[in-house]
Amino acid sequence: MALSGFASCKGVVWVNTHLIKPLVGESYPVVDYGRGIYLFGKDGKKYIDGSSGAVTANIGHGVKEIYEAMCRQAEKVSFVYRSHFTSEPAEELAEKLAQSAPGDLNAVFFVNSGSEATETALKVAIQYFQEQGQPEKIQILSRRTSYHGITLGSLSMSGHPLRRQRFEPLLEDFPAVAPPYCYQCPFKLSYPSCKMKCADDLEEAILSIGSENIAAFIAEPVIGASGGAITPPDEYYPRVKAICEKYNILFIADEVMTGMGRTGKMFAMDHWDVVPDIIATGKGMSAGYTPMAAAIVSDRIMKVIENGTKVIMSGHTFSANPFSAAVCLAVMDYMDKNNVVQNAQKQGIYLIEKLKKLQEEFEVIGDVRGKGLLCGIELVRDRTAREPFSLNEKITETFISICFENGLIVYPAVAGVTGFSGDAVIIAPPLTITSEEIDELAGILSSSLKQLTGKLEQ
Ligand code: PLP
Repeated sequence: MALSGFASCKGVVWVNTHLIKPLVGESYPVVDYGRGIYLFGKDGKKYIDGSSGAVTANIGHGVKEIYEAMCRQAEKVSFVYRSHFTSEPAEELAEKLAQSAPGDLNAVFFVNSGSEATETALKVAIQYFQEQGQPEKIQILSRRTSYHGITLGSLSMSGHPLRRQRFEPLLEDFPAVAPPYCYQCPFKLSYPSCKMKCADDLEEAILSIGSENIAAFIAEPVIGASGGAITPPDEYYPRVKAICEKYNILFIADEVMTGMGRTGKMFAMDHWDVVPDIIATGKGMSAGYTPMAAAIVSDRIMKVIENGTKVIMSGHTFSANPFSAAVCLAVMDYMDKNNVVQNAQKQGIYLIEKLKKLQEEFEVIGDVRGKGLLCGIELVRDRTAREPFSLNEKITETFISICFENGLIVYPAVAGVTGFSGDAVIIAPPLTITSEEIDELAGILSSSLKQLTGKLEQ
């Protein structure tokens, strides 16, 4: 087989080095087609897409309405350069996103990936303070357990050591604070008697660095790829937002994974009634049908920029291309017509119930957590002591391989991340999933856990 950028050939892997090797066998299976929550390999094997790919295929695969919208837009015009033209789909999509976003987040800046969205947010935050004569406010605070993207700016804000390590010399050494990770609390405390020391840690970092040097704090509402759906107590984000306001620091919500209905609300911050200054979103925005992402910026910030340089100092060739915008509009339409966000909320409760039942049965499951259909299980050696496995045992890798072989795709939350020593997987099926399909998913999970337990006992 010829090499493509994302393929493997005879066991040589070109991407996803954190997975070390193809999940099963010598090379990746070749996909043929997808329908709903299922993917089918060329060899006829059926898989449940239990992680929506990389938590992206929110409305499932092979949706006819999207294909038809693609054809309609491609027939008209697919690409115009954003400095020459705007287009009806791009304008309409911006309007729809602004309506869906909380508070005064009304300016939508289109990009092509989640990494570009968080990096745009970083640039907007720095520009906002530059326009006000505060060019020294350039530090971006993040959390030790975090992933905000793979470009150098977004990676600089990420705590993910495996993705950072090779490029460390090129990265900004942005400060990182403790994550709200109650199951393995970084301070060895318990909620609520901890009084949210992880939020205090943010304030202490601000005081030690000096707020005059900090532009923004960035956080994933529910920590995904680097933690396995770590969900903070309800009082965490209101506290964080208040701290940011107190010190004149912008709050960026990285909703690349959590946005667009994934957690049972359009944006996860809606669970806590917190209005961030900037939202970065992507993945579910196009549900994987085309590359598309966005930074959604508040009127307060845009007013300052419009009184200064006038435009956000960033942009990409493909930003706001009409084809991708039309695809995203069709996805949002489909979500509205089929009550997809409501389904995510309802089925998320059912999925968590199922996972908790599995936890009763399998000692290896230490924690079950998540919001809506962004769920995670953490795997531990000793549940009573909450003792993690050691990294070189590669438990996450073994478990996702077993699941894959059994026809279930789950997503690894990479162990070894600073502040997250454990093994976890994300279970995040398409938001259109039914209860019967969750039963089927849980059945494969159960037999895979049985196999894992068997291996551990050997
Ligand atoms: N931010 C978060 C929270 C993510 O989960 C990801 C990807 O997994 C990104 C940013 C980067 O998005 P992309 O891979 O589209 O560049």
